[in-house]
Amino acid sequence: MVERPLTLMAVHAHPDDEATSTGGILARYAAEGVTTVLVTCTDGRCGDGPGGVKPHEDGHDADAVVAMRQVELRASCEALHVTHLETLGYHDSGMMGWPANDEPGAFWNTPVVEAADRLAELMRRYKPDVVITYDENGFYGHPDHIQAHRITMAAVEQTGIPAKVYWTTVPRSAFQEFGKVMQEMGVSWDEPDEPAQEMPELGLPDDEITTWVDTSAYGGQKFQSLAAHASQAENIFFLRLGEERFTELMGVETFVRVRDTTGAPTPESDLFAGLR
Ligand SMILES: [Zn+2]
Repeated sequence: MVERPLTLMAVHAHPDDEATSTGGILARYAAEGVTTVLVTCTDGRCGDGPGGVKPHEDGHDADAVVAMRQVELRASCEALHVTHLETLGYHDSGMMGWPANDEPGAFWNTPVVEAADRLAELMRRYKPDVVITYDENGFYGHPDHIQAHRITMAAVEQTGIPAKVYWTTVPRSAFQEFGKVMQEMGVSWDEPDEPAQEMPELGLPDDEITTWVDTSAYGGQKFQSLAAHASQAENIFFLRLGEERFTELMGVETFVRVRDTTGAPTPESDLFAGLR
């Protein structure tokens, strides 16, 4: 039997989502010789445009936004040494309730089975041992994040390939820490888009988190990855922290394990525990 390298697949909604919640693990596992596959489901057309033009402002040119964000995504992947980038190319659906939700080609408007079939094909090609996506609320309720969750879980069900599946999460204790830093910086934490109507409660109590991965040695790469997406206003806040403070705050990435065939005990500090 030919020994193949361990493989990690992260399924994200938009260009830039790979940076904040999984930039550290993508960099760390690549450095450890793991094959890393990033699947980005949408083209990010509802993001900020060149010059900071907002999606509902005149002069927001979706094609220009897509082109810019593709360049940024590739630069981010270079910073993280991602082995394979796969883009599914669905249209960004915008925030919940936006007219873009229902447009043809919008990810949210795409039948789950259809997109899951394409993702299942990628799982058959890359045979990931570990797959990562969001929880059923897409962490914070964005329709494209919810859809990424749905197609990933459907593709896992269909193929049965990954030994371990994780959802990204944030410990509730970290939010408190974060609030303090924000105050220090004199920043009020406003969501860049409309305030969400029905926000799900974010993150998990610390004792429900199964997996804590130390990625502090890769803080520089994670910061570079985020810096590649500096066109998006919500990333600028993090960049203002500076590399050192950013690494201190974001140097541990946390997950909840939802599928496991290895029997590795939890809490664990390695996504590949039980596999090597
Ligand atoms: Zn996103």
